This record gives sequence, structure tokens and C-alpha cells, in this order.
Amino acid sequence: MFMEEIERKTCIVCNEPKEEGITIVTEFICTSCESEMVHTPAEDEKYPFFVQRLKRLWVRFHA
Ligand SMILES: [Zn+2]
Repeated sequence: MFMEEIERKTCIVCNEPKEEGITIVTEFICTSCESEMVHTPAEDEKYPFFVQRLKRLWVRFHA
């Protein structure tokens, strides 16, 4: 077998398997989604989408 063992996790925001990103608790967020979230202002129409995606994370964090 010559396949490289690259760990791909599914991003909870874009639902795509990515190699690079951050894992918060048990959920994975890819680098591009993470930087997009960071640069999305609260008044942006995409912001509620991110918040909703991340809600279960925060719930777990503050549990
Ligand atoms: Zn993503």
C-alpha cells in the first residue's frame, strides 16, 4: 500500500473532509472556515449560520 495516511476530518461548518483545521472538544473546523468565522462581523448575514453550527460546541464547553 502506497497510500499516505492523512487524517481527514469532516468540518462541521462546510461538511467537507479537510486535512488542516482545529479540533474543539470533538468537533473539527477547517482552517478556511475558522478564518472566515473570525472575519465575519456579527451583523453579517452569514454570522447566524456560524453561530448555529457552533452552538453545540459552546453548549458542550459551558456544560
Ligand atoms: Zn470548513
